Amino acid sequence: MNVAEQYGSLVFNDRAMRTRLPRDVYKSFQKSVRAGKPLQLADANVIANAMKDWAVELGATHFTHWFQPMTGITAEKHDSFISPTGDGGVIMNFSGKELIKGEPDASSFPSGGLRATFEARGYTAWDPTSYAFLKGHTLCIPTAFCSYTGEALDKKTPLLRSMDALNREAVRVLRLFGNQAVNRVSSTVGSEQEYFLVDKEMYLQRRDLVFCGRTLFGAKPPKGQELEDHYFGSIKPRVAAFMQDLDEELWKLGVASKTRHNEVAPAQHELAPIFATTNIATDHNQLTMEIMRKVADKHGMACLLHEKPFAGVNGSGKHNNWSLQTDGGDNLLEPGATPRENAQFLLFLCAVIQAVDTYQGLLRVSVATAGNDHRLGANEAPPAIVSIFLGDELTAIIESIDSSSPYSQKVQEAMEIGVSVLPRFPRDTTDRNRTSPFAFTGNKFEFRMVGSSASIADANTVLNTIVADILAKYADTLEAAQDFTAALNSLIFSTVHAHKRIIFNGNNYTDEWVAEAEKRGLYNLKHTADALPYFIHEENVALFERHHVLTSVEAHSRYEIMMENYIKTLRIEALAMLEISRKDIQPAVGAYTKELLEIAAAKKAVGAVPAEPESTLIKKISGLAVSLYERTEELEQLLLKESGGTEEEGQYYSGSIFPAMQALRMVADELETLTAKKYWPFPTYGDLLFSV
Ligand code: ADP
Ligand code: MG
Repeated sequence: MNVAEQYGSLVFNDRAMRTRLPRDVYKSFQKSVRAGKPLQLADANVIANAMKDWAVELGATHFTHWFQPMTGITAEKHDSFISPTGDGGVIMNFSGKELIKGEPDASSFPSGGLRATFEARGYTAWDPTSYAFLKGHTLCIPTAFCSYTGEALDKKTPLLRSMDALNREAVRVLRLFGNQAVNRVSSTVGSEQEYFLVDKEMYLQRRDLVFCGRTLFGAKPPKGQELEDHYFGSIKPRVAAFMQDLDEELWKLGVASKTRHNEVAPAQHELAPIFATTNIATDHNQLTMEIMRKVADKHGMACLLHEKPFAGVNGSGKHNNWSLQTDGGDNLLEPGATPRENAQFLLFLCAVIQAVDTYQGLLRVSVATAGNDHRLGANEAPPAIVSIFLGDELTAIIESIDSSSPYSQKVQEAMEIGVSVLPRFPRDTTDRNRTSPFAFTGNKFEFRMVGSSASIADANTVLNTIVADILAKYADTLEAAQDFTAALNSLIFSTVHAHKRIIFNGNNYTDEWVAEAEKRGLYNLKHTADALPYFIHEENVALFERHHVLTSVEAHSRYEIMMENYIKTLRIEALAMLEISRKDIQPAVGAYTKELLEIAAAKKAVGAVPAEPESTLIKKISGLAVSLYERTEELEQLLLKESGGTEEEGQYYSGSIFPAMQALRMVADELETLTAKKYWPFPTYGDLLFSV
């Protein structure tokens, strides 16, 4: 593949638009995107036609409004371009109206009570900030999805609104620093994607993987990740072929896949793209996940995107690298070269610190799913406690501000913000802390709690909104100030003083930190069911309303959808466990017991040898088989119970159903270790993890 030539060849990108659109139409398109204003219909017609010609030349027959409903994945309904000519033939046609607006039948998408099903129609609206692209024979047009009364029914609309809020408030702050040149500030995101690859034949034999995306049973294999020999290890030919194919597919779609490597757990890998504006990064991450699955299938493998496909080895996350960038290309979280720039950097840094501390609960909600519960709080992933890692250098500066003592080490060129004298921050001194859920990494923050299967839209909507909120407060204060420098100083000092509790540079995986965090008053919301109610706390709903990201109605409906999703996920898992226990494991254990009984009987018959070890084994296995049966029945009983309101039901699932599932699994896993391999009804962890 000639990468430079093929890169973005399946995207109707700026280059394609410039060559294919009349100059004036191209210009007015650019103008309306920059201003966020709707396009004239005449222009839309020209663009639609050019887009269609481009797509048809590449083999397209259909178009679709590609959108991101609350299911967390993408949705599409294809329409062909054909239009009858009246003489029995057709022409390929695509109008501006069809480009701008679509009306999928939306009745079956989750809406959290926003819309009764009989008035199911919602509409999709073109998001011109994300390029149209070609998938197979279909032109995909990225869109936002709303109800007819204007409520957001998707993940993209609030994300775009949060980007607007952030832009508005960040520009206000920059103006106060005398920056007149900046017109737009965007959040940028590079999301590192972790995943597992297993052999497809084996995958298909595991109904838990097929139904739930994770193993519901499975004893620990003799070898897991203890040797840490997989991390950055040499990539096996089959995996390498997959990765190459994947990169090439992504590049054609303009997804800037940059880094690929093996991760810590056996069969675990990672892909990292070059960062992009948040909504593009979100679209691209959705495409990446979809194409990973497709390419894996082509290579005879299954790509597992679940947060915890295997107990006992690392789970998968999505490290969400987040920063702020001006339209001039400046990174606002990059320590600057001049004192004024450094003061500005410090203020933006403070805004993030204050935002994360103030809205810990919301950040936790933004990554809360049934799948991610297995990861957060487990031993190898960021704990459910939100805290910030700043590194020694920045922490020393923050501490010197807090104690009002001048920062004394490595004094280079002095930076002045009012009375305090600070040195220029040396670059790249940030040490790595792999245990922090929210780490400053030199010129960006890395939010590591995001789940591997999740859309990154939720986390970034919250990040953008909470930082916008604090920036708005800062702008209010500074705009009203008589003496800018003095006000800036006191703002930085008071923020550091009030919010430094969120900073933690130590090992987040220790019990000491859990105790310390509790002393500091930080949340530790272990289960999704505990976290979700924070989404509709009064102050959080007010936050979303204040910045026009979500209305109260939208926030409540989202809460309902998230809680429902949590409950449904656990319910499906529990039902799958019942089925696998009864139809696979119990018969297998029975068959093996029968064989043992036969051997024991045969030994007894000849009288010569004692019936060992069979009789001991039979007793052990039979005892466990009784427990397995009982726990299966117990879980079924628990699933019969009708529950009341959603929050209560969520608590019931996390407090009663989940432990019963764990208990059932424990016995089954022990039985696995005792049962002859030929009887065990599906591939084991050892088979799966070392299958490729
Ligand atoms: P690290 O070694 O700190 O993980 P990398 O350079 O490997 O840093 O980047 C990790 C991810 O962070 C990549 O996806 C990269 O594109 C992204 N990234 C780098 N700079 C930024 C930024 N300013 N905003 C958002 N993401 C960024
Ligand atoms: Mg990283």
